[in-house]
Amino acid sequence: MNIVKNLYAYVWPGNDNNCNSFVFKGVLNNGKHLVVDPGHLFTPSYQEPGLSRLLESMEKDGISSASIGLVILTHAHPDHCESAIVIQQEMGALVALHEAEEAAFKRAGGKVDLYLQEGALELGSNEKTDLQILHSPGHAPGHVTIYWPAEKVLIAGDCIFYRSTGRTDFPGGNAAALRSTIARLSRFDIEYLLCGHPYGNPGILKGRDKVQENFAYIQG
Ligand SMILES: [Zn+2]
Repeated sequence: MNIVKNLYAYVWPGNDNNCNSFVFKGVLNNGKHLVVDPGHLFTPSYQEPGLSRLLESMEKDGISSASIGLVILTHAHPDHCESAIVIQQEMGALVALHEAEEAAFKRAGGKVDLYLQEGALELGSNEKTDLQILHSPGHAPGHVTIYWPAEKVLIAGDCIFYRSTGRTDFPGGNAAALRSTIARLSRFDIEYLLCGHPYGNPGILKGRDKVQENFAYIQG
């Protein structure tokens, strides 16, 4: 599903738990693609093929898996990071995440190529895509969200869903930190809120009013 410009969303269509994935098409040098949160390789209960479904859907949008240059992980829970390891090993992409997620990613079998820090992330050479990495702890200690100011997009990972928030009962979770993260994110100018899971809704909220209403509901 095209969201805006060259940003595509792949809402998880299966029955088992898996994350939503997002792709910035052609934003890296040599027309390579950035994938955010490629999800499970296979889902845990029903063994649904997460990665192959994602790659098939991407191909339909003209996004070749051979040209994935970079994977950004919002955090290193298996339902977000598992496929990154295969994309890294078999397709030669680099994997980037926050340092505070490295231990979890290593436990899942991954190796970090690049560390993300709070601040600007400028992609591409001729045509640039300027993103902002926001350290957004609470659900996981090194959770990041990605803000794209030019199009007012927030990729929220597991901080915020439609009418709910991420869990804080996993190792490194912190409810007070998540409340602060959500309060901070609610002050950004957001037209497209892209959530990490299709809980109760595909997790794609379009329009400033809808996004603000969702923040208001969550913050109660
Ligand atoms: Zn998670």
